[in-house]
Amino acid sequence: MDVKKAEFIKSAVKPKDFPPAELPEVAFVGRSNVGKSSLINVLANRKALVRTSSTPGRTQLINFFDINSILTLVDLPGYGYAKAPPDVRKQWGPMIETYLAKRENLKTVVLILDIRRIPSDGDLEMLRWLEMYNIPPIIVLTKCDKLSKLERARQTALIATAIKREKTMMLPFSALSRDGRDGIWQEIERLLGL
Ligand code: GDP
Repeated sequence: MDVKKAEFIKSAVKPKDFPPAELPEVAFVGRSNVGKSSLINVLANRKALVRTSSTPGRTQLINFFDINSILTLVDLPGYGYAKAPPDVRKQWGPMIETYLAKRENLKTVVLILDIRRIPSDGDLEMLRWLEMYNIPPIIVLTKCDKLSKLERARQTALIATAIKREKTMMLPFSALSRDGRDGIWQEIERLLGL
């Protein structure tokens, strides 16, 4: 994708505040600090479309972005931050589940995993939700630059076993080298019908 336009549309919590569901939509999700903001910024070719390492104590919002006026990119708040206040953590589940259940133009969710880590309960729960709401996932294994080629292959196999979805495609990525960017866009475009 040759990104010519990448613009913030709005933030929202409830469906009544979401922008009109006119364009096909892709959402990004993962545990806090996994590298979600870095991935989105590389995909959008922007240094800081999304702020990195956002403070998890504040109210969590769903952020909508326009890409080339042909698709909407959605940044969902991260999960699993141990120090987040209980009320922030309590709001997260219902907000995300409502979005996944109600957003009719949502075509795929990019679930971001750290290639060095075994998926958490939160990651597995997210995969179950996507299955339940019939949303095809794209799994991105990020921070690949931190491992050797051999370690990467080993971790990829361990993660595939942990998520019990041997057939789900897992795409390697590095925000440092930008390796994997084109393959991720191709998969998004395919699932959005672009
Ligand atoms: P978020 O909380 O999921 O949005 O994560 P961020 O994008 O803010 O990244 C968290 C930390 O991981 C930051 O220090 C990033 O610089 C670092 N990071 C993110 N992606 C990569 C990557 O692909 N490679 C390396 N080496 N570091 C990364």
